[in-house]
Amino acid sequence: MDPIDTLINARWIIPIEPVGRVLEFHSVAIQAGRILAVGPTSELSGRFAAREIVDRTDHVLLPGFVNAHTHAAMTLLRGAAESASFERWLRTQVWPLEHRWIDAEYVRDGTELAIADMLTSGTTCFGDMHLYPEVVAQTVSAAQMRACVGLPVIEESTSWAESAGECLEKGLKLHDDYRDDPLVTTCLSPYASWALGDETLIRVRRAADELELPMSMHVNESADEVVAEGERTIARLDRLGLLSPLLAAVHMIHLDDVDLDACANAGISVVHCPQSNLKLGNGVSPVARFKARDMNIAVGTNGAASNNDLSMLDELRTAALLARGIPSAHVTIEAHEWLRFATLNGARALGLGEVIGSLTPGKWADLCCIDLKRAHTQPVYDPAAQIVFAASRDQVSDVWVAGRALLSSSRLTRLDLEDVLERAQRWRERISKA
Ligand SMILES: [Zn+2]
Repeated sequence: MDPIDTLINARWIIPIEPVGRVLEFHSVAIQAGRILAVGPTSELSGRFAAREIVDRTDHVLLPGFVNAHTHAAMTLLRGAAESASFERWLRTQVWPLEHRWIDAEYVRDGTELAIADMLTSGTTCFGDMHLYPEVVAQTVSAAQMRACVGLPVIEESTSWAESAGECLEKGLKLHDDYRDDPLVTTCLSPYASWALGDETLIRVRRAADELELPMSMHVNESADEVVAEGERTIARLDRLGLLSPLLAAVHMIHLDDVDLDACANAGISVVHCPQSNLKLGNGVSPVARFKARDMNIAVGTNGAASNNDLSMLDELRTAALLARGIPSAHVTIEAHEWLRFATLNGARALGLGEVIGSLTPGKWADLCCIDLKRAHTQPVYDPAAQIVFAASRDQVSDVWVAGRALLSSSRLTRLDLEDVLERAQRWRERISKA
């Protein structure tokens, strides 16, 4: 028998590729952090001598969720900015608070709290957008989670960089520092079209093209940003060359058919963040129309200041129910497709589609295991439907990233949760006293 690191035996496995497939009484063999084989438990247990065998007899095993858009450090503002108006929330609550408090320590403590929130709800990889990306990268590395760390680009001076030029300079150095890292990758994160001049956007696009770096950007989140100086935002991004397969456009709520066709023809990804969009009163992204155009749809939570949790299970249920409640004549989205959006499509949006997002031999063993033996998730006809429409985050029992168990029997293995929570509490005291 071949020696391997880990063999996980599960009642059900949803490999995501091919879509819609459910494997019963199957196992995943892991060696050196990667998936070596997926097959019937009876076969793999005779083929491999595993150093560790994990039996999950009432559970469904699937790729870990990929949260394709968040601002991890904003967990420290969870519940601190509750305006129902997007403009007020952003300009009079969130920006002043972040401006006042942000530094390396804030970003580290907030990102660690976010990692605890995400791992305990089954997320193994997140796409981040925040200042101090080098601190995000260090924190992710220390936690041994996976992230595509956004290299933020904004024109205004901040405590991190004085100009868009300095943002790019510091960001590209960080990209270089993590070039061969197995867990941390980077993407360019121009904040939003309305916040950036033509020259900066062209520089971002050139850097993306040269380095084949993904870009992640807020696009048409509110109705006010659809047209600027007589030009539609999508037309401007097209003119500047930003519409490309490297772009993951986040939110994408307010669009007409011309916008949609331009985006679909360019092969961009979209990141759907329904809970944040609902909470800030920005509307609902036309997901069925993206699907009708065969676009790559991913799912994100956005930051905890507008969600307010980072659970992808929660996000998926909201997304799936909204899509059912706003019927489109020809397009339906089934539970299995939502799971693909939340895993493989998210990975593709972040430039990681070849290495994570499905249980395919050769990919990193980034996995999430959910216990379905609860009153509210039995009996099981289709585990995908149970995950999307019934399961809750406390049913996430295990999470592996690159074969390492970061959550085991619902307990974090590396993060000291007490310490993380204590630091978050201290930030709340400082921020609320100010
Ligand atoms: Zn955002």
